[in-house]
Amino acid sequence: MPLEIATLPCLADNYCFLVHSEDTGETALVDAPEAAPVLAELEKRRWQLSEIWLTHHHWDHVDATAEIKDATGARVIGARTDAHRLPPLNHALDDGEAFDFAGHRVVAFDVSGHTVGHIAFHIPDAQAVFTGDSLMALGCGRLFEGTPEQMWASLSRIAALPADTLVYSGHEYTATNARFALTIEPDNADLQARSRDIDAARAQDRPTVPSRLSLELATNPFLRANLPAVKAAVGMADSPDAAVFAEIRRRKDSF
Ligand code: ZN
Ligand code: FE
Repeated sequence: MPLEIATLPCLADNYCFLVHSEDTGETALVDAPEAAPVLAELEKRRWQLSEIWLTHHHWDHVDATAEIKDATGARVIGARTDAHRLPPLNHALDDGEAFDFAGHRVVAFDVSGHTVGHIAFHIPDAQAVFTGDSLMALGCGRLFEGTPEQMWASLSRIAALPADTLVYSGHEYTATNARFALTIEPDNADLQARSRDIDAARAQDRPTVPSRLSLELATNPFLRANLPAVKAAVGMADSPDAAVFAEIRRRKDSF
């Protein structure tokens, strides 16, 4: 049976995710913003939590870890480089390390930029990647700790995954991201169509996460800093990709 993935809104605009195997009965939680909605969803679905996977150290991704661990006995997994500032880990992951979850291979890889030590979790046979606050739906995380070069390298690693991968990211910022993206590429027809879809989804309070990587590649300005048309649009036709990315990120910071 394929893995089942549930998207749970938490706090004001966070998402966390439950990944469940009907075959083994195991369930993993990706990030722990808030205990009540997670415990309620587990109860409703009669799923037992076995693992908590943490993407990065920010409070809105880890604060409920201890409470959920106490309630379920789940093991906590996160990046070795961030172990000193994450909740206590039962398994510390190195960059590129693969581990088994319910018979499925999960690959953790470094996507530093928003924070240094931020990781993503890729499950190839589920066509799913959990990106936290690195690549987001039509956006990317603000650069609190890393450099633009680091974030561009991280986004490039995610962009290289199979295009049919679903991107499970950490926040519902997509409507604002769409308004910003249209300032960079007002004539991008895929972006115009996506922007309309986002408005329709949000009007009905539907999540815009997950999103398909192929759609991100076609519309997300932060993934498109290597394209001549985007470079020209920000007046940087001859600049390196990472410098163009830095300029787009700078504009978004003051949008
Ligand atoms: Zn964050
Ligand atoms: Fe966050």
